[in-house]
Amino acid sequence: MGEKNVVVVGAGVAGLTTALLLSRKTGYKIVVAAKHMPGDYDIEYASPWAGANYMPVSIRGTAAAEWDKNTWGPLEDLAQNHPEAGVHFQDCEIHSRAKDVGSATANWFAELLSPSPWFKEVLPNFRAIPKESLRPGIDHATVFTSVCINTAIYLPWLVSQCLKNGVVFRRAVFKHISEASSPSIHPSNKVDLVINCTGLMACRLGGVEDQSVVPARGQIVIVRNDAGKMLDISGTDDGDDEACYIMTRAAGGGTILGGSYQKGNWESQVDPNLAIRIMKRAVELCPSLTGGKGIEHLDVIRHGVGLRPVREGGTRIEKEKIGGVWVVHNYGAGGAGYQSSYGCAQAAVALVEEAFEVRARL
Ligand code: FAD
Repeated sequence: MGEKNVVVVGAGVAGLTTALLLSRKTGYKIVVAAKHMPGDYDIEYASPWAGANYMPVSIRGTAAAEWDKNTWGPLEDLAQNHPEAGVHFQDCEIHSRAKDVGSATANWFAELLSPSPWFKEVLPNFRAIPKESLRPGIDHATVFTSVCINTAIYLPWLVSQCLKNGVVFRRAVFKHISEASSPSIHPSNKVDLVINCTGLMACRLGGVEDQSVVPARGQIVIVRNDAGKMLDISGTDDGDDEACYIMTRAAGGGTILGGSYQKGNWESQVDPNLAIRIMKRAVELCPSLTGGKGIEHLDVIRHGVGLRPVREGGTRIEKEKIGGVWVVHNYGAGGAGYQSSYGCAQAAVALVEEAFEVRARL
């Protein structure tokens, strides 16, 4: 077989990373076709809204833990050697309160809150914070070196790396996944394989319509204040679907204050009351943000809302034939799209190669 013509549907972190890894192999002519592209801010497009950091919640021994593990190396390399990608190292503190044990957030964060998570062998400088230096109300805390990604720099960087490798980008809106294999989508007038990286919208895309994908609404506040580190806590006193985390993006990207994890909620507009709670919790967790002063000393850049594409059973990385064409799926990463991006993309690329080998044998 000559050049293999591939269409990647979706230009979020999943689609772009998959296109990039595939473009590093020989013999592929790749088109990325998507409704939204880096630079757009839309409720159907999760990637620009992410913090984004590497803070694994995947459970030891699962495929998700393997994808996260396989992503650390590439992100560490970017932070170390490619400042233009907008990824930098930051210490990440995880605070636990005994009273959160058994709550939805604490259960979701079980591995992260563990004194001995799987990633302590992967991430540098994992250690417990001495009890005497914890503020009142915190029962246990760990700290490790991680990365924070400035998505406003990183997503365009991924596009630029793809362009360098000959990937073609175009806008398209598909009602059915089979439309992505219509010859007019590809400059070669032929599509051999489609990669489905449609995130949350996989629940509405014809031919896929995966009802196990639901939104987990995340509201954030971006401020000019600098936290100097990343912080997370096992729960809040404001309800199970609210969260508190802080991270400062690389290269002047501001500090993200989160958040919420509102499952099944599609609301795109900012809830001003929730915004106040987010800011109050952030200042309480990290008083140095405002020099010990109140939330009126936060310098707000903007408020935002994004929808995490949560899939029951985890990210779908599978291949199937739809209308006689191989479709490789890579969607449903929930709150882990960046920290699992390279591992998931590697797994998707392996399925692409498998599909072409299967074809070659026929
Ligand atoms: P998306 O970014 O949503 O991209 C989907 C793409 O598919 C878009 O280009 C869209 O236009 C296209 N598309 C969909 N349907 C169609 C169609 N029918 N036709 C054409 N194109 C279509 N993750 C982390 O790892 N670390 C974090 O710190 C982190 N923080 C987060 C904080 C918030 C507030 C939120 C909301 C998310 C966070 N996440 C984080 C999760 C992360 O953002 C997502 O997992 C990730 O962005 C999902 O990427 P994706 O490419 O699968 O989907």
